Amino acid sequence: MTESTTETCLFCRIVRGEIPAGRLRESPDSLAIADISPQAPHHCLLIPKRHATDIGEFMKGPRAAEEMADLLAVGLGLVAEKGLSERGYRLVVNTGREGGQTVPHLHIHLLAGREMGWPPG
Ligand code: IMP
Repeated sequence: MTESTTETCLFCRIVRGEIPAGRLRESPDSLAIADISPQAPHHCLLIPKRHATDIGEFMKGPRAAEEMADLLAVGLGLVAEKGLSERGYRLVVNTGREGGQTVPHLHIHLLAGREMGWPPG
């Protein structure tokens, strides 16, 4: 994983509409897209529009708590829309190299539609 500026960052480019993506839900601060390589029948990415490499960096922002609440609300909107709460779902934030993060712009995975194992690999 390499650091990237907002100009070259993949998810910033998706937010700006420079790269196509399956846009599922949007608010002024957040965007939800379909993951390009789904690991479950439902696999979405909840992406804050403000660039931050990871959750630690993101939470330093002056509006971080509000933005994070909005990001989760966008995710829960999808959960409701797709009827995922009865069977359950998983939210995942991979962080850093050993955490398995490959795109250096904070995002929350929303996975559902199959039995999840524990511990994760
Ligand atoms: P990470 O490994 O936790 O950083 O998650 C990055 C995710 O972004 C992976 O699940 C990838 O499949 C996904 N991804 C990478 N490029 C794209 C894209 O262009 N559109 C949608 N998802 C992407």
